[in-house]
Amino acid sequence: MPNKAQQNLPTKRCPVCRRLFTWRKKWQRDWARVKYCSKACAKRGSCDPQPLDDGHR
Ligand SMILES: [Zn+2]
Repeated sequence: MPNKAQQNLPTKRCPVCRRLFTWRKKWQRDWARVKYCSKACAKRGSCDPQPLDDGHR
């Protein structure tokens, strides 16, 4: 089994870039509120709601 680094960590899908991201320690208190994989995505997600069909750029 090659994947022993990510055992039971929860994941979410970022609505901006549509990638799965994994729980991080810095989010341990905030995980329920985390929506985006990164600050950049949080910015895009909150200021600029755009159609999610953005996979070809
Ligand atoms: Zn993202």
